[in-house]
Amino acid sequence: MHFPRFLLSLSAAIWLGAATASADITVRISVKAVLNPATGNRQAGVSEMTFSNTVVGMNDMLQSYGRGYQLQWVGNALVNVGGLGQFLTGPSRYYDVDFVNDDNGDALKDQFEANAINNPGTYGWSASAVNIYIVRFGGANWNVCSFPGSQIILINGAAGYSTARTVLHEIGHYFNLSHTFNGRQNLNANNTACTNGCNCAKFVGGGDDKIDDTILDHDCWTDQNDIAQGNYSLNYANLSATRQAAVDRIWNNLMSYHGRQHDTPFLTSDQLDRWTDSANGDRPGVRTGRTWFVDRACSALAATGNSDCAVIGGPFHTAALGVAAAKSGGQDIVLLRPGNYNEPMTITKALTMRATRGNATIGKP
Ligand SMILES: [Zn+2]
Repeated sequence: MHFPRFLLSLSAAIWLGAATASADITVRISVKAVLNPATGNRQAGVSEMTFSNTVVGMNDMLQSYGRGYQLQWVGNALVNVGGLGQFLTGPSRYYDVDFVNDDNGDALKDQFEANAINNPGTYGWSASAVNIYIVRFGGANWNVCSFPGSQIILINGAAGYSTARTVLHEIGHYFNLSHTFNGRQNLNANNTACTNGCNCAKFVGGGDDKIDDTILDHDCWTDQNDIAQGNYSLNYANLSATRQAAVDRIWNNLMSYHGRQHDTPFLTSDQLDRWTDSANGDRPGVRTGRTWFVDRACSALAATGNSDCAVIGGPFHTAALGVAAAKSGGQDIVLLRPGNYNEPMTITKALTMRATRGNATIGKP
C-alpha cells in the first residue's frame, strides 16, 4: 500500500493560505428517500441516523486514501420524494422496481433519471450534487450506479444504504471505476459458456477494468488462494511478497465483490488516479476544487495536469506549473508524484499539496 508522505516534516498534506478555505475537495451528495406508494411512508428502517453513520464511514475511507476527497451530505437530511397512490406516476412508481432483474430495468433507470432531471422539484434532483435515490429493489440486495454519461445512483434501503463500503463502491462507479473482475468468464467443464453463476465448473478472471495495478479478478473467487491460483497458478502462501501484495490489492478492493466476505475496502494508486481524472473532467458540477498532477518523471505533451504520462494533457513536469494552475481560494490540490523538485518558490495563494506513491521533496538539491 502506498500512503502519501511529504519530506518537509509535514504529514500527508500541507495547506497554505487563508483560514477560510478547506484542505479537502468536497463532493456533494443529495440523498432521496423514495416513498412507498401504498403507504406514503419511507421504507421501514430508512432514517437520517442510519445514513449519517454511512457518511461517516465513507469519509473515514476517503480520508485513508489520502487524496483529499470528502463527501458533504447536502442538508444532512434525506429528501422525501413521491407519495401515496403514485403507482404509475412520480418518483414512487420506481419504489419497488428491481432494476437488475426486471427485463426493462436499464430503460426504467434511464427513464427515472430523465424524469428527475426534467422535474427537479418533484424528484428533489440537484444539479450540483451526486443524486442518490433509496428504493426497495423488490426486496433484493442490489444497487445500481451510473458511469460518466449518465448520473443517477439507486441504492436499496436495507443492506445497501446502511453499508458505507457499498455506497462508496457505487460512488466509485460514478467516478468511472469498473469492477476489478470486469470481463470475467464463467465456463462449463468443456470450456463452453456457462450461465449458472458461481455454480459453474470454471472461472476465468477478468482484467478489463482499465487499471494497471490490479491483477485478474473473479466475483466467484472466495479467498486469496483463488485469486493467487487464477493469476499465478500457485497458492497464496507460495507467492513472493510482491505477488501477495498484488493479491491483497484485489482481495481488499472497494471495486471487487470480496467485501461481501470481509470489510477492508481499498483503492489502488491507479484506481485513485482514474477517480481523480473523472472528478476533474466528467463531474465538475458536484465537487469543489480539482487536482493537478505533477510528475517529475513525465514529459507529457501539452501537459494540463491529468494523471496519465502517456497521453497528451498529462501531468505537469514541475511543481511550479502545478501551483500556477491551481485556482486561488484553497480548494485545489497539487498532487506530487515521487522525486526531488528542486524549485525554490514562494506560494502566494491558498492551495493544498499532497504527495502520492512515495516521497516528494521541494527545494532540496
Ligand atoms: Zn458495482
